[in-house]
Amino acid sequence: MRPPVIMWFRRDLRLTDLPALHAAAADGAPVVPLFVVDPAFARSGAPRRAFMAAALRSLDDAMGGVLVHRHGPPESVVPAVAAEVGATVVHVSRDFGPYGRRRDAVVAEALRSAGVHLIGTGSPYAVGPGTVVKPDGTPYKVFTPFSKAWRAHGWAEPLGVPDVSWRGAPEVSRDGPPEDPSAGALAAWPAATEAAALDRWDTVLPLLDGYAEHRDLPAIDGTSRLSAALRWGLIHPRQMLSDLGPERGHVVFGNELGWREFYADVLFAAPDSAWRNLDRRMDAMPVDTDSDASARFDRWAAGRTGFPIIDAGMRQLATTGWMHNRVRMLTASFLVKDLHLPWQWGARHFMRHLVDGDLASNQHGWQWAAGTGTDAAPYFRIFNPTTQARRFDADGDYVREWVPELRRIDGGAVHEPGASRPDDYPPPMVDHGREREDALARYKLVTAGSR
Ligand code: FAD
Repeated sequence: MRPPVIMWFRRDLRLTDLPALHAAAADGAPVVPLFVVDPAFARSGAPRRAFMAAALRSLDDAMGGVLVHRHGPPESVVPAVAAEVGATVVHVSRDFGPYGRRRDAVVAEALRSAGVHLIGTGSPYAVGPGTVVKPDGTPYKVFTPFSKAWRAHGWAEPLGVPDVSWRGAPEVSRDGPPEDPSAGALAAWPAATEAAALDRWDTVLPLLDGYAEHRDLPAIDGTSRLSAALRWGLIHPRQMLSDLGPERGHVVFGNELGWREFYADVLFAAPDSAWRNLDRRMDAMPVDTDSDASARFDRWAAGRTGFPIIDAGMRQLATTGWMHNRVRMLTASFLVKDLHLPWQWGARHFMRHLVDGDLASNQHGWQWAAGTGTDAAPYFRIFNPTTQARRFDADGDYVREWVPELRRIDGGAVHEPGASRPDDYPPPMVDHGREREDALARYKLVTAGSR
């Protein structure tokens, strides 16, 4: 009998259009489907782990119950399974994140010493990070030129589901599935299955004509909500990109997928930008970290700042594990520029609570808001939470959905700091105008230092 190969699943939990699975099945050898429950997962937020556990259950069901889960460090589990089943090849979808790269280098080394090859094919991106570079070979640092080069590079057409001869459980023994910390937060999401992600995409695609106008309005269901499905690879972005046409809404949506690829590329080129300023000149920015700063952080995290749009966003995050993009931008800006806290505090909180938490998109979304990252959007562009709320939640419906204390206030008056408020809702915790001046004064210290 031919020796089997191993397909080690990580963050691409689907069977359709998975290039690594096509590579594993290509020569007809039996395929052992493996998922390693890595002790490092314990550091991730519970909502994200709940989604992963649900996605794994659905992947296992789609394969007829053959998925082999094993618990332990990948550098010992993967070689042990290879030895047990007699495999000399392990296939993976390439992981470009800092942890994934370190892990894969260690696993590849452990396998090599046992005569087993680790073969990476494809990735969770339409174009692998590091592929699109400037004419001089260095990585892009600005989105627009990156996105032009990214589109010009293009991507292959999606593949279907390959014919696979599985050789998995129960013939190959398996440990229990990963712990499912709480499924409560997943209620607002499409089910964590490949079929639900594809269905959701079929529903969203005909509505994209209005995407450019609707995507900034948090009160309406104007975005795809496919971020967690993309994060866990229930759908591949090129499946979406290949369905898009030249209409404006489609182009804007394709650009958003482009931001996801851009940030993965930036993190690949600068792995330490996960927790440090990409623009190191901004290290000179004074931020507050004392006990008063911690107290301000706690009010922000609890959705008790007294700025209704900020509080609505933070409560939406706590309740559903998702926050609308416009409100992610506002809550992030508020933490950095109104409360003067390190962006890393906010980024960590988001990673703990987001179901779609993704290191590249999250840390660089935060760095964008903090003015420390890739974008030309400079630090001195400061969002005013009240005028932003008037513009993007004009009728106040988003705030009333998430802040029940304010439900009795009609229309856009809900955003007005001067309007009378119920006793159980706090007054604004800071004066935005004053904090804006403080933020600009701090920024001056950075620019003075770099002259
Ligand atoms: P849609 O509007 O339907 O967009 C489609 C897809 O494009 C998204 O699913 C996502 O994969 C991608 N996308 C859209 N906007 C962005 C963006 N600005 N940057 C990168 N990719 C984008 N996105 C995450 O997936 N994970 C995160 O951890 C994350 N953290 C963020 C933190 C901050 C401070 C900010 C400002 C943005 C963050 N984003 C993150 C980006 C964005 O807010 C979410 O991708 C989006 O809200 C998800 O909802 P959706 O699927 O309905 O988006």
